[in-house]
Amino acid sequence: MHPSPRFSDMPYARPKVEDLQQESSDLLAAWDAASSVDAQIEVIQRWDKHQVAFQSNQTLAMIHFQQATDSEQAKTEKVFFDELSPVVLEADLNFLKRVTTSTHRPTLEARLGNQAFALWDCFLGTFEPAIADQKRLEAKLCTEYSEILAGISIEFQGKTVNLSTLRGFFGDADRSVRKAAQVARSEALSAVSEDLDRIYNDLVTVRHEMATTLGYDNFVPLGYGRMDRTDYNADDVAAFREQIRDHVVPLAGRIYARRAKALGIDNLSFHDESVRDLLGVPRPNGDEAWMMKQAASLFDDLGDDFGLFFKMMADCQLLDLSSRSSKAGGGFCADIPRYGVPFIFANFNGTQDDVNVFTHECGHAFQNWSSREQSLLVYHWPTSEAAEVHSMSLEFLTFPFMDRFFGEDAERYRTGHLEDALLFLPYGCAVDEFQHRVYENPTMTPDERAAVWKDLEAIYLPHRSYEDMAHHSSGRLWQQQHHIFAVPFYYIDYCLAQTCALQMWHAANSDREGVMARYRKLCGLGGSLPFTGLLKEVGLANPFKPGCLVSVCDAAAEALGL
Ligand SMILES: [Zn+2]
Repeated sequence: MHPSPRFSDMPYARPKVEDLQQESSDLLAAWDAASSVDAQIEVIQRWDKHQVAFQSNQTLAMIHFQQATDSEQAKTEKVFFDELSPVVLEADLNFLKRVTTSTHRPTLEARLGNQAFALWDCFLGTFEPAIADQKRLEAKLCTEYSEILAGISIEFQGKTVNLSTLRGFFGDADRSVRKAAQVARSEALSAVSEDLDRIYNDLVTVRHEMATTLGYDNFVPLGYGRMDRTDYNADDVAAFREQIRDHVVPLAGRIYARRAKALGIDNLSFHDESVRDLLGVPRPNGDEAWMMKQAASLFDDLGDDFGLFFKMMADCQLLDLSSRSSKAGGGFCADIPRYGVPFIFANFNGTQDDVNVFTHECGHAFQNWSSREQSLLVYHWPTSEAAEVHSMSLEFLTFPFMDRFFGEDAERYRTGHLEDALLFLPYGCAVDEFQHRVYENPTMTPDERAAVWKDLEAIYLPHRSYEDMAHHSSGRLWQQQHHIFAVPFYYIDYCLAQTCALQMWHAANSDREGVMARYRKLCGLGGSLPFTGLLKEVGLANPFKPGCLVSVCDAAAEALGL
């Protein structure tokens, strides 16, 4: 691993297609000439190094575009990789077909770990050159979606703001302000709603075509394969959602009822949902520079390893946190594997969201950094439901330090965060079931999809009432959820992980040191095991098993006095 330069000094080079093709055929020739286990491992390591170089450039191109969606140059580079993706997938496919059918496979698995082979088997079920053009179209549609959302600008309180900044007003103590902010979002989405319906319709169609070309009945199993799910299936996920309906939806109802009472209103509306009391959502007591100082002291106090990690992130400019026009919305953590370093992207808006996003993305980043010495690149990240355990757990494990950000509001923050973690679960399940229904019935019209969303709101969010929000009332709130467009079936991962993170929170209340040790162990394991295997290693209950949510909900209800 090279020592990391600062982000702005990281060399970016667009790979040459001829070089990639040459390297790919050289690798195949090397594999075919490698007859012993040692020789085959050497070729796999050479392929892995090549992946490191390629993915580093690809991630840099992606980040540069997310930082400036209006930059023609950044867009050109991102589109280059989008277009190239099928070529690279085909090269990987040809190589991994050989690797997974090696006569030495049992010994290779023993030396390199089973999980890599399970993931490679999974990958082989998700791509064939016959779907290359559809993959390109899919990437193009996702880019179009990002551009439309990033391009939305809204006049609010005399200023022009984007959707990320507008979110900062959703938890305002003044009911008329938070309502106006939600109405403004609804109107902004109304203006692009037809476009978003068209893009989603095209995405569903092209994904269904890819699935049937690969021999599946519909996109669901392909979507699961693309999510690298090797240890559970759609039935397990349906059983998990049932637990949420049985145990979390009623508890969420009690939380909302208490919020309404605290707000002194009988008719809790959509725009009141994120506010717990008349004071509104807690806000950190300073600006971004101040928050960075608090964060540095927080990480120092979490331990030397966390302190060094955070110093490296700051020194190497691996944090892009402020909201700017033309910067894409949302937050994410990516890595530049050439240097073994993660990068955090966020859109601060001055509310508790900033602390949530920050602790969340730092959880991802700390995990990736802790796994940087794992033997294969594929182990540097776990599959995403497991990855979200690291991020969501850190949101809870930093609870004792929240006084630094919120002062005397810290307890309000902690209670609100615990409530929000529970309230998120039904929404997350609605997003997941929506996608199952959509991909199982790929010929539905946009209006039929909207009706499905309304049905699901009635099941998972039965308290919900939109006032004066035509877009949201029409069954199209899901259009603002980027994952539904860009990464199908990802969303349930947050729910699965939240269930695990709540277990961490609960255990840390009585054994903080023990939980921190388990957390570090989980981070270091990276992606060397599948989701349920990782949970077992650190003593977390499997969310698919009945009863898992009962104990978590009981503990949370007790802590919340509900
Ligand atoms: Zn995350």
